Amino acid sequence: MCDSLSCVLAARELLKELTPLKTDCGALCAHACCAGDDETGMLLFPGEDALYKDCAFGKVIPAAFALGGQEARLFVCSGRCEREHRPLACRLFPLFLAFLKNGGTKVRIDDRARAVCPLCDYGMAGLDQEFVQAARKAYDLLLEDEACRVYLKDLYKAFKL
Ligand code: SF4
Ligand code: SF4
Repeated sequence: MCDSLSCVLAARELLKELTPLKTDCGALCAHACCAGDDETGMLLFPGEDALYKDCAFGKVIPAAFALGGQEARLFVCSGRCEREHRPLACRLFPLFLAFLKNGGTKVRIDDRARAVCPLCDYGMAGLDQEFVQAARKAYDLLLEDEACRVYLKDLYKAFKL
């Protein structure tokens, strides 16, 4: 068991070096998932906003909805970051956790990423399996924390595929 921020940090650590492909997938798309604007950001996990109070490469803004009973927060970056400090959502992209009727969960490609990420066309099999396994472990860690579990469940309900 761990508190929310510890779980998030441990999940981030699992995906510190691994990326969707063994090679730099950003070369395929000119780093499309990093090309947001002032209103577009990556969702922060419970407690993660505390890590970006004095961040030089981005800022935290409120999202217009709640997740896990709390106002959701987005991290809006300048399009470049200190890689070791990138948010968990950036590390998990383009994956998503689905909650199944049998009570289990399944890691899937996030359909919302399809408009941006060319890797989505190749499905899970097209991704580096080490990355997929690390994401599974990261989600398992998050599921151990109640606040992260409720957050992930709400996220699934809000963006059900
Ligand atoms: S959009 Fe997809 S292919 Fe491009 S950098 Fe992001 S994860 Fe890699
Ligand atoms: S924080 Fe880094 S990885 Fe995440 S969207 Fe911004 S530039 Fe990309």
